[in-house]
Amino acid sequence: MTEPADNAMTVDQDTLHRRGLLFILSSPSGAGKSTIARMLLEADASLQLSVSVTTRPPRPGEVDGKDYFFIGEERFEEMVKQDELLEWAHVFGYRYGTPKATVKQGLREGTDFLFDIDWQGTQQLYQRAEGDVVRVFILPPSIGQLHDRLRKRGTDSEEVIAKRMAEAQSEISHWDGYDYVVINDDVDGCFAKVREILHAERMRRARQTGLIDFVRDLMVADDS
Ligand code: 5GP
Repeated sequence: MTEPADNAMTVDQDTLHRRGLLFILSSPSGAGKSTIARMLLEADASLQLSVSVTTRPPRPGEVDGKDYFFIGEERFEEMVKQDELLEWAHVFGYRYGTPKATVKQGLREGTDFLFDIDWQGTQQLYQRAEGDVVRVFILPPSIGQLHDRLRKRGTDSEEVIAKRMAEAQSEISHWDGYDYVVINDDVDGCFAKVREILHAERMRRARQTGLIDFVRDLMVADDS
């Protein structure tokens, strides 16, 4: 009996080259999106957060360069004019945007990026990079719970909370612009579902560019 043609053909799928993906998480404020995002980043070393720029002042505990790059109106305007942003939008009276440079470089290297952006930014990213974008929307289990969560956060005034509730309902109306919708009635369950989506999307054939040679070898290898 002859030896299998190539014993060395065993492959570790995780090490093959893959196109990076743009994994977008959107939700109304208070639906638990930030917690899910943090859990994903902790659990998955090959996922990198896209840190946005914003003109909003930092909340207590927020760190410049980690949560956001906190910049002034002037710098934001300059970034828009110099085409340094992949997308940007007005949200709650401030401007938020995704810096282009890091993401472009990372995608080429096969890095997956996580975006915590609103529906407007999601639409813009989708128009720019349709095939690389995965859009996930997180819904609260009820409107009452959303209100409670916003209150418990304790970082915003009652007036801001009321405004955010109205904005939340408007954000929810854009749920049909997403590929996946997950209700966050239990944080661990929601996290597990979002993680399954990420895993499945990574296995899409078109993204697994490194598989081509392996599959070709499988088809011609003689194992008789
Ligand atoms: P917050 O001020 O609570 O951190 O964020 C407010 C909203 O702005 C959230 O819905 C968040 O997803 C959205 N957001 C944060 N960064 C960006 C961004 O770079 N682009 C867009 N379009 N929205 C963003």
